[in-house]
Amino acid sequence: MESGDSTRKNKNTIWCQYCPSVILRPNSANFINKEEGVFLPFLQQKKKANGEKFEMEGEKLNEFWMVSDMYDFENIGFCNTVDNIKYLACADCERGPVGSYVVDSKEFLVSLKRTKTAPEAEKNE
Ligand SMILES: [Zn+2]
Repeated sequence: MESGDSTRKNKNTIWCQYCPSVILRPNSANFINKEEGVFLPFLQQKKKANGEKFEMEGEKLNEFWMVSDMYDFENIGFCNTVDNIKYLACADCERGPVGSYVVDSKEFLVSLKRTKTAPEAEKNE
């Protein structure tokens, strides 16, 4: 493993984008840039009325908060599992995926883009 740059931890609490649920407390996760990108399905998959199929449309994301243990999360849930990838969702409102976890990888990834780092109230001060 290379360790060129000093690891960057989250200075602030990481929240769900949609509700006040705290996903990560400050200094609990390491920033990681996945240059090759990690595929995440879009939020709120549309389920078809007929049949069980739903399209796995999504995007590749690069910037994540990474923890190695599920217990490093303050709150986290799982939405669905595809092959050996478990997708992470908010534990309270169940919106997601906010990140992914490859089974047995010890890399739980939470997308910076799918979460927020400051409450709206502070921004309006
Ligand atoms: Zn939520």
